[in-house]
Amino acid sequence: MFIVLLGAPGSGKGTVGKILAENLKLAHISTGDLFRENLKNETELGKEAKAYMDKGELVPDEITVKMLAKRMEESDTANGAILDGFPRTKNQAVVLDKLLEERGNKVDMALNIDVPFDEIVERIANRRSCRGCSAIYNVVFNPPKVEGKCDECGGELYQREDQKPEVVQNRLEVYKNSSAELINYYDAKHVLRTEKAGDKAGRTSYDVAEKIEKEIKNGWN
Ligand code: AMP
Repeated sequence: MFIVLLGAPGSGKGTVGKILAENLKLAHISTGDLFRENLKNETELGKEAKAYMDKGELVPDEITVKMLAKRMEESDTANGAILDGFPRTKNQAVVLDKLLEERGNKVDMALNIDVPFDEIVERIANRRSCRGCSAIYNVVFNPPKVEGKCDECGGELYQREDQKPEVVQNRLEVYKNSSAELINYYDAKHVLRTEKAGDKAGRTSYDVAEKIEKEIKNGWN
């Protein structure tokens, strides 16, 4: 099973993706995490991606697609994968369909997590990431046990460059400009599933993940 997660930065794709991947035994592939790993290891790819990421812009398709295709060759994707943050453009969606078709698979669900933008801006401002293991905390709703330290690995928590307010605005703009065509693309393929989340909707990422997991276990499609 291959599930694509749509939704703005900060909509909870990472949390939903992690839960679904664990409980459904699927690989969790986050292109944002793959880029950050490359940045940390100072690879050529990381150096190429850095300027785009720091500004909250999309890394060009040829770089992103190559990285994703390589990751999809790993054996943990045999049962399927949750794709978190890919595709972000229609071209990437088309490439993904081709990649999956070649191995006899398809996108089974595109889960669009719909959170109002005003909630997202606040959420991202309160976010802190672990330098060690990339775990994410919210200093208001999900603080670490010890301030500034990761519960899981003890690593230092920090505010990523792209979690700063001016960059967040740009990331949301980029998302607004690209999301409609992706939503239409998957809607036309009858695999789109939209779930509202956030304070106003009274639903957390955990609620969304639980609902989708149950439905998949009961035979989605
Ligand atoms: P994320 O953590 O998913 O918000 O990704 C962080 C940053 O990585 C984005 O702001 C982009 O610069 C880059 N990125 C991640 N996924 C993609 C993608 N599918 N296409 C282009 N750039 C991406």
